[in-house]
Amino acid sequence: MTESVTGKLAALDAAVSDLSERAFGFLERLVAVPSTLGNEAEAQALVAAELERLQFEVELIPIPGDIGTRPGAGVPLVSYEGRHVVAGRNGSRSPALLINAHIDVVPAGEPALWTTDPFSPDRSDGWLVGRGAGDMKGGLAMALLAIEAAQLCEPAVTLPVAVVSVIEEECTGNGTLAAAHAGVTADAVLIPEPTGLDLWLNGIGVIWADIEVQGRAAHALVASEGVNAVDAALPVVAALRALEQELTRESGVYCAANLGTFAAGDWRSSVPAAARLGMRIGFPRSLTPAQAEARVRAALEEAARSDPWLATSPPRVTFDGFRAEGYALPEDHALVEAVAAVHASVHGAPPARSAVVSATTDARFYLNQFGIPALCYGPRARAIHAVDEAVELQSIVDGARVLGRLLLGQADR
Ligand SMILES: [Zn+2]
Repeated sequence: MTESVTGKLAALDAAVSDLSERAFGFLERLVAVPSTLGNEAEAQALVAAELERLQFEVELIPIPGDIGTRPGAGVPLVSYEGRHVVAGRNGSRSPALLINAHIDVVPAGEPALWTTDPFSPDRSDGWLVGRGAGDMKGGLAMALLAIEAAQLCEPAVTLPVAVVSVIEEECTGNGTLAAAHAGVTADAVLIPEPTGLDLWLNGIGVIWADIEVQGRAAHALVASEGVNAVDAALPVVAALRALEQELTRESGVYCAANLGTFAAGDWRSSVPAAARLGMRIGFPRSLTPAQAEARVRAALEEAARSDPWLATSPPRVTFDGFRAEGYALPEDHALVEAVAAVHASVHGAPPARSAVVSATTDARFYLNQFGIPALCYGPRARAIHAVDEAVELQSIVDGARVLGRLLLGQADR
């Protein structure tokens, strides 16, 4: 390594360190905004302002009303009116690297179970606690820290990097799909999801199912004359759990059929007439979303055949939200090698390459629909989608040192 390169990397590390407190402050402001589905505008405005401060040309990209008809799209859940993707570019239409981060967060669940308010970020023991801190506002903070530090080291150079802050990663992926169709692409994409500074190169397929099970309403005093929809739903849940086992066995990857929401009844002395189950079903890469839906329908029909009540009143299923195909970036791809080599130069050993990730990310669109290599590499988080979600602040710094080197390396070319 020449002295000038050594000096530049030392300057980069110093800049990352000097700017880290500011990056944590940005992250705190971002986590304080509850950017759940449909409520992303305020957080997106914060991101846009930060990108402008970093000299990016900022563009608000709408989601077309017909997005659901595009290959790979999810089924929209709420209107796209007034909701945008935020892109930051610097002249070059298709730069070497695109950073993709999602601004949407899942709901807090049971706020009372949290140590602190989920949207009042709290720092202790080197972690920042708050909904979205790990998944994945911490990753966006890491990326912007790396970009600002690299800019300080190369003030005369326009770094070949763009940033896109998307919505709906947690339910359809349509934000990323719309941005890519609008031309926000690059030679390669890095998504700073909370990988713990490992590399995530693939994902399983995921669909969402909305299942309605009918019962027969009655007063509790003649409950036996009615059919309790909650009881009627239990064999349906059992059938989907059996499907989970089947799909997991077929693929060798954990394909959770998660019962995420359940609603039934409105009065303790009434027999509920309907129950509604919201399920997330993971499936192997070898299946298409349509084939996975067919498997769900078949499992429900089987459950209905073997239950006297369900046989007369079969469950109804609709599919909305995720229609995510599985995806994989080859482990020996040049992008993987490049990130791994830079990580190794900072941390002394290459990052782990997760064998199989039993979830999905927006990387699938770049790989499957646009032929662009994409991977996930980001900070260390705990309890994502759970109580007391948090991101480890040091991992934001460590990841920024790697990403900063990657950006400077591309600027050199
Ligand atoms: Zn995420």
